This record gives sequence, structure tokens and C-alpha cells, in this order.
Amino acid sequence: MGRLSAAGPWRNWARTASATPQRVAHPADQDELVETVRSGMEAGLQVRAVGAGHSFTPVAASEGVHLHLDRLNAFERVVPQPDGTTHVTVGAGIRLGALNAQLAAHGLGMRNLGDIDKQSIAGAISTGTHGTGARLGGLATQVVGARIVTAKGEVLETCPETNPEHFELARLGLGTVGVLSAVTLEVVPAFKLEAVEEPWHLDRVLERLDGPDGLVEGNDHFEFYWFPHTRRALTKRNNRVPDDVERPLHRVRGWVDDELLSNGVFAVTNTLATLAPHTTARINGLASRALSSRRFVAPAPEVFVSPRRVRFREMEYAVPRDQLVPVLSEIDRWLEASGEHVPFPVEVRFAAADDVWLSTAHGRETAYIAVHQYIRRPFEAYFRAVEKIVAAVDGRPHWGKIHWLQAERLGELYPRFADAQRVRQQADPDGVFSSPYLARLFGA
Ligand SMILES: Cc1cc2nc3c(=O)[nH]c(=O)nc-3n(C[C@H](O)[C@H](O)[C@H](O)COP(=O)(O)OP(=O)(O)OC[C@H]3O[C@@H](n4cnc5c(N)ncnc54)[C@H](O)[C@@H]3O)c2cc1C
Repeated sequence: MGRLSAAGPWRNWARTASATPQRVAHPADQDELVETVRSGMEAGLQVRAVGAGHSFTPVAASEGVHLHLDRLNAFERVVPQPDGTTHVTVGAGIRLGALNAQLAAHGLGMRNLGDIDKQSIAGAISTGTHGTGARLGGLATQVVGARIVTAKGEVLETCPETNPEHFELARLGLGTVGVLSAVTLEVVPAFKLEAVEEPWHLDRVLERLDGPDGLVEGNDHFEFYWFPHTRRALTKRNNRVPDDVERPLHRVRGWVDDELLSNGVFAVTNTLATLAPHTTARINGLASRALSSRRFVAPAPEVFVSPRRVRFREMEYAVPRDQLVPVLSEIDRWLEASGEHVPFPVEVRFAAADDVWLSTAHGRETAYIAVHQYIRRPFEAYFRAVEKIVAAVDGRPHWGKIHWLQAERLGELYPRFADAQRVRQQADPDGVFSSPYLARLFGA
């Protein structure tokens, strides 16, 4: 079983990174946040905000001041819009689980979500966290305004009309232009999803991806998990259903599905594969069959979110959607040729093109390929090989997951990267919100 602790198995990566902050602050409100940023600057310290510390890299680490915004978690405003959406302003430190619960209490919900709800809204948008859905963007595309504390210690409101360039990096910018104190989200009336999860042959999945009725366009949210060393995949199709559809009681999603199958089976297969790596292919074949079909209806957040109790490392690349199949074939070929044993499935998701400057789906319909490796197994050879494969199709790395790219290459991958560097430089000329890791990504 993955190592469990009272706080859950996801050790705070930001805290365990090599950087040890000189000061740790938990401001109670925005005024205290401003004071903390100012006093850090006056002491010549770099200042970084941390959310839930769920990124797989030191992106939130700081050797100066580490700001925890858990206490900035209140709903400030709920403003219905003429088009039926609602603009909701929330404290930036609110965790997605609490956000979803409070939105539901207002009869509201996010259009799309990723697969866990432990992150803070600030951390999730800042790294481009996304779910799946060919007609939908990541969480940052659902942001319509953001309030930041700048490197001058001032409070700045940003939105597409006011300070639009700061807004671009406030909604997805790794905390480079300021500390988010509040975020305004465009949300929709709460909705239910019908989830259909089925093991399929991988070739059947790949043949049926495209076209208007294909798996990607023909479902609101489609994703699949491919079990390396096999031709098996677990498919997930989630579609909106009318509010009066009830959960079929005989197939309620519950402990057996979520805990035993999703986590228990993975815990066992990963442990076995670690003890006897040569059995990985057989184990993956068995695991892909153990995850049997199920169908259930539930409020959307319950369908999007699953518990993740087996710890792993992850790298995820966004590739042009039409390059997905060749890239998967290349990864398959490399795995077989290299002798590398990978017990963890490869997750494939989809997103619409968007216009967010640093979004991994900027300007192109996107497929996401996420490779994972069990925490107790070596990962670098596998991840570096996949990084090399996706480089050939201009893959863009998830900002919160492992990768080895630097500013020069990122500049080639993002058409607005030079704008992002310019705005960062103007907003924070002294590097108050920088760190060694950010300097690698954006240049000094
Ligand atoms: C089990 C697991 C499942 C995951 N599932 C998904 C998924 O489905 N989809 C996906 O896309 N990603 C996924 N991720 C990645 C995760 O969503 C991102 O790494 C996200 O950034 C984590 O949020 P956090 O609150 O922990 O942020 P942190 O890791 O703490 O911080 C991330 C970044 O946000 C900045 N930041 C945090 N708070 C603020 C603030 N107030 N102001 C300014 N900047 C701030 C930090 O400085 C840092 O640069 C998953 C990660 C794990 C561990």
C-alpha cells in the first residue's frame, strides 16, 4: 500500500524541496498579506506563495518567505450574469474541494475540473491545471478576474479590461507577477454527469477517437488510461444528464470502486512490479481487467474527482491533438526496446484550443499525455525518453509536473512567451517573486 499519513500520502513537495524558507507566514487577510510581502521585500528576501504543495517540482519553493494562503478562503461575491453564468469571487487559498462544496450550496459548479480536489484555486490556475473535454479549456480559462499583491506591495485588480497583461500572468503564470489574494471565476449552474467506465482494447480506442461522433468530440469529457506493455485501456466517458436523472442505486460509486479498485489494485500492482519488475506486463494485463465496467450518475464534482492514495511521480506533455497516436506508438516502441518496466498507466486527456498566454493548449487543439512512475521506482530514463519523443511534435510540459525544459526552448513553444517574460520583468524587476527554479523557466 502507498505510504499513508494523517495528512494523506502527498507530502508537500514545496516543503521537502531543497529550499528552506527563512520565514513562513500564514496571513489571516489581505492586509496582513500586503504587510508580509512588504516586510519580506524590505528584508531583501524572495517571496513565494504555496497552495497545497501538490506540484511535482519545486515551483512553489522559496529560500526567502513562504506564504501559505489557506486562511484566505472565503466567498466574497456571487454575481449572476445576463448570459446565465455567475461570477464568483473567492479567496485565492481556498481548496478545490471546499470551493466545489460551497458552489454546490449556491446551486453552481465549475465547467470542468481535474481529477483531484486537494489543490488551492490559486495553485491550480497558476500551473495550468486541466481536466478533459474537447470543447473545454483548463481551469485558467474559467478565470475572469484576479486580485494580486504586486512586487511594490500594492493591491492590483486585473481582468481582461483592466491591467490585461497582468491578468494574463495572474490567471496562469506560476506566481510571477504577484501573489493572488482573490480569484473571480465564471461558473455555471450545477450539473450532473453520467459516467461510463469500460476496459477496451487500445486499438479500438485509437480507431474511434476522431470524427464528430468519435470518442473525443462525441463526449463532454473523454479520457483513457493505457496500461503500458499491454494493448489494454480503461476508457472514461462523462456526459451531462438532466437534473432529474437519479443515481442508479445498484451501481452507486462507492468504496469498492474508488478505494479497492482505483487505489488498492494500484497499490498491490505497483508493489509487486517493484519487487519483481519482469512481471510488470502480466500485472498490468491483470490490473486492466480488474478495473471492470461501471456506470453511475452523480453531481459533476463527484465524477471528476477520485482519491489518489498511491504516490507517484508524473510528467505530462500537451501535444497537438493529431499527433497523439504517433506519439503513443513511439512511447510503446521505446518501452519495449528499452526494457523499462512501468506499472502505472499512461493517462490521455483532451482540451480545446485557448488564448491564455502560457496555457499548454494555447492556440491548438490538444491531447495530454501523462506518464507516471511509482514513487519507489526510478523514473528519469522513462520520463526523459518521453520528453525526447514529444519534443519532435513541439510538446509543451505541464507547469506543475516534472520536465527538463528551460526558457530558450519554452520560448520556441509558446508564441506569447516573450510577452510573458516582458510583463514579468516590468512587474517584478528585482525578482521578488522569483526563485532558482523560476529563473530556469523564465530566464534570469
Ligand atoms: C495526485 C495529483 C493529481 C493531480 N491531478 C491533476 C489533474 O487532474 N490535472 C492537472 O492539470 N494537474 C493535476 N495535478 C497537478 C496539480 O494540479 C498542480 O501541480 C497544482 O499546481 C497544484 O496546486 P497547489 O495548490 O498544490 O499548488 P502548489 O503546488 O502549492 O503551487 C503551484 C504554483 O502556484 C503558485 N501559487 C500558489 N498559490 C499562489 C498564490 N496565492 N498566488 C500566486 N501564486 C500562487 C506557486 O507559487 C507555484 O508556482 C495533480 C497533482 C497531484 C499530486
